[in-house]
Amino acid sequence: MPKPKINRPVPSSPQVLDDFIPLLVCPCGDPYGLHHIRVDVFGRPEDGVAVVCSVTAGNVEPEVSLGMSHPGANPSMRRDGIRITFACENCDEESSLVLAQHKGTTQFYWEVWS
Ligand SMILES: [Zn+2]
Repeated sequence: MPKPKINRPVPSSPQVLDDFIPLLVCPCGDPYGLHHIRVDVFGRPEDGVAVVCSVTAGNVEPEVSLGMSHPGANPSMRRDGIRITFACENCDEESSLVLAQHKGTTQFYWEVWS
């Protein structure tokens, strides 16, 4: 029986390599070769309309939009969130490091698509 396709990311804990300056480790386990390619910042009053500002590496023009760009875009269910998307030279995967406000806590995890 085929495995059902999961269309949402599976959170995993970020790891760092303890160097002179700590290095973020790709979910594949390699700390070398990560390049951030996009940053999405979601500003949202509790349960309100979100504003999204996105900057793509190498592009000097930010994209700003109001409203929910698509369901699940904001990593926070009800508040603010940040998603930094990386490309990895070693696993050829894109992963996103997420900060999401949730009930007085800040969640911090990798989004890894499976
Ligand atoms: Zn990797």
